[in-house]
Amino acid sequence: MRVRSLGSGSKGNSIAVRGGGELLLVDCGLSCLETKRRLAACGASIAEVTGVLFTHDHSDHYSGLATFHKKHPAVPLYANGNTADAIACATGVDDGWCIFETSEPFSIGALSIETFATPHDAADPVGYLISEGASRLFVGTDMGIMTVAAKEALSRATCAILEANHDPMLLQTSNRPLSLKQRIAGRCGHLSNDQAAAALLEAHPAHLSTLLLAHLSQECNAAYLALEAVRPALAEIGLPNISLAALAQDTPSATYEF
Ligand SMILES: [Zn+2]
Ligand SMILES: [Zn+2]
Repeated sequence: MRVRSLGSGSKGNSIAVRGGGELLLVDCGLSCLETKRRLAACGASIAEVTGVLFTHDHSDHYSGLATFHKKHPAVPLYANGNTADAIACATGVDDGWCIFETSEPFSIGALSIETFATPHDAADPVGYLISEGASRLFVGTDMGIMTVAAKEALSRATCAILEANHDPMLLQTSNRPLSLKQRIAGRCGHLSNDQAAAALLEAHPAHLSTLLLAHLSQECNAAYLALEAVRPALAEIGLPNISLAALAQDTPSATYEF
């Protein structure tokens, strides 16, 4: 399998996943034009997309959907019922949905898709474990805490896209309103760098070959801080030399094979 982030952060999220003959997007939070451009930059065409999976109904995860769906109406849209309803309501996209039950595995072609509920202030948010044989991609962003189910999925991943949203000190000293700070740091907010490190220690993903830190706050984090936070955890679980990167908002990542 291969994965590339097209953009990651509160201004838009989309991940391109290739495997089993499919080209899936996880979330569609960049404009359709930007999605097309960033796919083209890595030699893929937006016309090859065979499905879009949604994590939750925040606009940074679906804002490109209305135009994408108008141009590519046959591409199935995967979400649980509450997320599909909320996104349909916000975007007017009320057809093309393939509804799954959270925690009940399903397939897209040769790919098997597992989902787990995530604690976040959205209708019915989920994370994913997308597998083709022994290759398993974990996608866990936009979650206030790591649940048992999220850790179990992470433990089996060979590639993980894991949220490292903020540095707790930078968040507390930022000029954001107290209510927003509390929301971000709360149980239904976003994982901090330290929480991402703790998640690695607790999940102990023995077969992990690639770790991509995601949804970094542009105000309250920096790539080097997120990377520094997780390195000791990776060393402690015996993975000091895996492929490690922090995903950017404005540029696509490299392509990672796993
Ligand atoms: Zn988000
Ligand atoms: Zn969100």
